[in-house]
Amino acid sequence: MQTINNYDFKGKKALIRVDFNVPLNENFEITDDTRIRAAIPTIKKVIEKGGSPIIMSHLGRPKEGPTDKYSLRHLVDHLSKLLGVNVKFANDCIGEETKKIAKELLPGEVLILENLRFYKEEEKGDEAFAGKLAENGDCWINDAFGTAHRAHASTAVIAKFFPNDKMFGYLIESELDSLSKVLESPKRPFTAIMGGAKVSSKITIIENMLDKVDNLIIGGGMTFTFVKAHGGKIGSSLCEDDFLETALRIEKIAAEKGVKIIMAHDVVAGDAFSADANTQICDANNIPEGWLGLDAGPESIKDMQKVIEESGTILWNGPVGVFEFEKFEAGSRAAGNAIVTATKKGAFSLVGGGDSVACVNKFDLAEGVSYISTAGGALLEYLEGRILPGIAAVKE
Ligand code: AMP
Repeated sequence: MQTINNYDFKGKKALIRVDFNVPLNENFEITDDTRIRAAIPTIKKVIEKGGSPIIMSHLGRPKEGPTDKYSLRHLVDHLSKLLGVNVKFANDCIGEETKKIAKELLPGEVLILENLRFYKEEEKGDEAFAGKLAENGDCWINDAFGTAHRAHASTAVIAKFFPNDKMFGYLIESELDSLSKVLESPKRPFTAIMGGAKVSSKITIIENMLDKVDNLIIGGGMTFTFVKAHGGKIGSSLCEDDFLETALRIEKIAAEKGVKIIMAHDVVAGDAFSADANTQICDANNIPEGWLGLDAGPESIKDMQKVIEESGTILWNGPVGVFEFEKFEAGSRAAGNAIVTATKKGAFSLVGGGDSVACVNKFDLAEGVSYISTAGGALLEYLEGRILPGIAAVKE
């Protein structure tokens, strides 16, 4: 398979699909450049090997064609600074003028094209549009894991124009490496911590994980759908009554497969969903009327910590309590600390999915985990076991 490392970029124009969908303030200044930084190694490598990177991205959700607010022009100066190169800008991502600018690029020169989503053909995965994008370059690199679950023109369809000149960038390569360490060859025991609010949004991932894990920690609001399914009293805790059967089915499958499920048996309950709620510790299946279970209790935290610390591989997706409120953050903080301890002992840990990344940042644990995935939706679909169009397009 072609890779950035083995491909000869000398004198070539390399179209790189990145995810530069960064937040801008009202003065069009970038308020968080993480996504741009993540793509720098790929761009630099192309330059180093004598190629000319041509960068393609979307920014925001422009509904009505070209809009200054969503112009990639706002990113040019910052990208120039990060690369130490004067980045050129094309006012359009396709067309004769853009083709000419692209053609005239010298080795080492960098061009960024205007927002792909100024054309509705991009999200439609229009083949003719993908062909026009392809005319700008000699090869295609996909480095946008965040949009790899979309079959858009620039993320997947364009691949057919480069049957022998397509590859992943370093960012996607490292995401796939880390995911394969977890999903394909995990060091045992493998523990998945699935938290967050609802069973309904995590059910497909949980089902897929039951084939892979040794331990499944179910935390957060999901807990109470399971507790209620067994007839427990959950007060006003979050519960999805349509999923009671599903909860029992998950437990049954887990038992058949020998997967141990760990769930809170004591909880920190609050008398309101609020930062300054009154709290009490109670049994998870005996929560008083009007109270809500908002975090794992101290005994359950100890159980979870023990399982996590003894694991060889850990996947963390979703907080185990309402970590945004100090009174209900202990479970998520403890889970995070246990992951760091396990990682120090040699475990491989992967954190992904918006809110667990927010936990890692809030509790300052980033240094102590093996890999933090940058992708939201794409990661979740990957964990569900789906084939991502942006990945398949390069591999096929
Ligand atoms: P998700 O986006 O499904 O991963 O859910 C994350 C959200 O779940 C966070 O904002 C948490 O505050 C929330 N959450 C965690 N535990 C609970 C709980 N016991 N009750 C209600 N919400 C919770």
